[in-house]
Amino acid sequence: MDLYEHEARELFEERGIPVPRAEVTDSPREARVMARRLGGSVVVKAQVKTGGRGKAGGVRLAADPAEAERTARRILGMDIKGHTVGKVMLAQPVDIEAEFYVAYVLDRAAGRFLAIASAEGGTDIEEVAAVRPEAVARIPVDPAEGVTSAKAGEIAEAAGLPPQTVDVLVRLWEVLVGRDAVLVEVNPLVRTRQGHILALDGKVTLDDNARFRQPRRGEDSSTYDSPLEAAAAAKGLNYVKLDGEVGIIGNGAGLVMSTLDVVAGCGARPANFLDIGGGASARVMADGLTVILSDPAVKSVLVNVFGGITACDAVAEGIVRALDEVRLTKPLVVRLDGNNAVRGRAVLAERAHPLVQQATTMDGAARRAAELADAG
Ligand code: GDP
Ligand code: MN
Repeated sequence: MDLYEHEARELFEERGIPVPRAEVTDSPREARVMARRLGGSVVVKAQVKTGGRGKAGGVRLAADPAEAERTARRILGMDIKGHTVGKVMLAQPVDIEAEFYVAYVLDRAAGRFLAIASAEGGTDIEEVAAVRPEAVARIPVDPAEGVTSAKAGEIAEAAGLPPQTVDVLVRLWEVLVGRDAVLVEVNPLVRTRQGHILALDGKVTLDDNARFRQPRRGEDSSTYDSPLEAAAAAKGLNYVKLDGEVGIIGNGAGLVMSTLDVVAGCGARPANFLDIGGGASARVMADGLTVILSDPAVKSVLVNVFGGITACDAVAEGIVRALDEVRLTKPLVVRLDGNNAVRGRAVLAERAHPLVQQATTMDGAARRAAELADAG
């Protein structure tokens, strides 16, 4: 589970990592009061579980409490990469002299963690990493040894960070271990003109498998990363929201995972992961389509089913009945293969819905869905 910035900020603060003073609200009027408490001028920051808020206009400086109210009103309700802003954080502004990047991330393949750090942090870190990889230090961290001061010194030196960051690097590791996180990221970690080190933005991903031994988080700890995920969970669907345009439905987690890959291979981006499992009844299909179609980012939907115990004609019947229930608003590409595929395709062909197309291969279906998303 990803945490909101303000939740990450709190975990940092608890471990003694310096952070700007800040408060959170969903009300513009309250934002004005908070800004006054924080000293007048504030940075208003959208609280959404996605990066790039700054570039999307979700991080704005307000000079006084009245402007803080107006800015909060503007940012609340904004859509950032398919995430609706429900809350803003108001933070004391900081005079930035330098922006750094630091993170610890679980390296599953290597069975250890990786410290990633750069003296060129900020909103362009992805570009820095792509264009000048040598500007980003990557140092393996043995989970049994952890990040001692010596290790932190090694990381800081490799990345060209000032020695004052060593303490933050040690404490950030303590956050990761103490909270069972698989990712902690600070971008930017800044040096202010006054020479202080401050964590200005944070991302923390908790290990859901460790939830049982972690204290329950407050109301924002919303088990789900998006309202769509919450709606899907309420219908018993195995759905994960992603940032793309092609909605995906498949049966079996493995098939859905490879469908995501194939869609990405066609140059499109999947909008979600949705595994409808073995049953694929009309009910499940209708629920799945409803959730996917309510994502405004979705431009086309790809249904990829490999018939096994549940034969393709039963799945096709499910789709046909779901089409009676759900008003289809985006093009739907269906690929049926496996048990009774021919009969399943015939069922769909007979329904002849104007927005439904069929493809016989996974590659063909993905390509078609990608084209439709691109055109839509
Ligand atoms: P992100 O775009 O979602 O990563 O949001 P950030 O919180 O990282 O903010 C983006 C950028 O806004 C940072 O890299 C900073 O350059 C800038 N920023 C954020 N807070 C402050 C602040 O208090 N003062 C100043 N001057 N810039 C800030
Ligand atoms: Mn950031």
